[in-house]
Amino acid sequence: MSREVEEIFREAGAILEGHFELASGLHSPVYWEKFRVLSSPHHTERLCKMIAQHFKGAAVEVVTGPTLGGIIIAFEVARQLGVRSIYAERDGAGRDFRRGFSINRGERVLVVDDVLTTGSSTLEVIKAVKRHDGEIAGVGVLVDRSSGGVTKIEGYPVFSCHQVSTPTYAPDECPLCAQGIPLTRLGSSQAPSS
Ligand SMILES: [Zn+2]
Repeated sequence: MSREVEEIFREAGAILEGHFELASGLHSPVYWEKFRVLSSPHHTERLCKMIAQHFKGAAVEVVTGPTLGGIIIAFEVARQLGVRSIYAERDGAGRDFRRGFSINRGERVLVVDDVLTTGSSTLEVIKAVKRHDGEIAGVGVLVDRSSGGVTKIEGYPVFSCHQVSTPTYAPDECPLCAQGIPLTRLGSSQAPSS
């Protein structure tokens, strides 16, 4: 299953190599451009099926994720589970549900995301769900590229379709910066994904 995920990303030309600034502010020689995959409904359907199948017995009533990629993942997973989907947008320092989206008290909410690096945007969505008195049914991500792998966020187990360990560096410790390799800023204006 994990190999299938990497193959889909490779096929879509979504694994870029160079010197990148991630949305988290960290630098890395590899960038997973998920939108190259998410622009294909066929690929997106296959990937989201892994999350939907994992949580099939979890009595999920709502699927949610953070803007932007999380909107697509949440929608497709919800479609496959036959439930509704909502998304959480930036709101001050965290995230919240707008557009008239609501969660009923005690409703079981599955939190999904595309590529997890630090888990901060996923955590923001979990906090928003709890503020709205929802119950977290689980956390599912397409790719966990955090160093070491994330098994839990805020105590909730994380299911990832694929785990990959690619190095990330704080800007002041980045060997690529030290070598003077030009930096591609994907995490800021070009890819406002988390
Ligand atoms: Zn660097």
